[in-house]
Amino acid sequence: MRSVFLGPPGAGKGTQARMIAADGTVLHLSTGDLLREEVNAGSALGLKAKRFMDDGKLVPDELVFEILFAKLGLGKGMARAFILDGFPRTRAQALELDRRLAAVGLPLVAVVNFVTSEDAAVARLSSRLVCRNCQAAYNARTARPARDGICDRCGGELYRRHDDDPDVVRVRFQEYRQKSAELVAYYQQSGLLRNVDAELPVAEVVRQLRQQVFAKK
Ligand code: ADP
Ligand code: AMP
Repeated sequence: MRSVFLGPPGAGKGTQARMIAADGTVLHLSTGDLLREEVNAGSALGLKAKRFMDDGKLVPDELVFEILFAKLGLGKGMARAFILDGFPRTRAQALELDRRLAAVGLPLVAVVNFVTSEDAAVARLSSRLVCRNCQAAYNARTARPARDGICDRCGGELYRRHDDDPDVVRVRFQEYRQKSAELVAYYQQSGLLRNVDAELPVAEVVRQLRQQVFAKK
């Protein structure tokens, strides 16, 4: 299953991708997570990406392509099943992804569109907590960890992302509104798009995904 998860910030893409990938049969690649790892490592790519991320803007394509396609390992040894979470975010990125996958004869199979109102997503982001180590998401109101401030999965420290501050969230949604319509239209045309109601509880969303998209054939 070669898939893409689309949707606004806070729609629950990362939460769902982690659950689907938990059994180790699917590779979960989040460009946001990969970029934050570069920023934390202080790499040249991370330094270039950081100012865009801090402002809530999209990082230039060449930086995102470099990091994503290296991890995806196009060609021999490429994961048979993957979820791209937060990539592509523009039609241009989608075209480049299609081009690279076509070159190795392994096109996308499904694109999941996480449909949610902006109000619901903004509310989630206002109380999101993220693990500094494994980047798993929690929520101070609705999905608290067993021990305050500590990741259930890896024991890492939980923190609030700077770009979840209201001023930056506003810019991130502007970016999303500007770029998502043509991206969704592109995948609709290709016949790959499947909408999920991302406002449902976590367990219900994952049930739908398992039934409708990741059913074992
Ligand atoms: P995304 O990866 O799309 O930006 P996350 O998976 O990080 O979103 O989720 C954003 C926030 O919303 C987190 O605090 C997470 O715990 C919470 N969340 C995720 N899915 C749901 C859901 N279905 N219902 C309620 N809260 C959710
Ligand atoms: P996310 O973790 O998906 O919320 O992404 C956090 C930030 O990383 C975004 O606001 C962008 O600055 C950057 N980013 C993540 N994915 C992409 C992408 N596909 N294209 C451009 N920038 C991205």
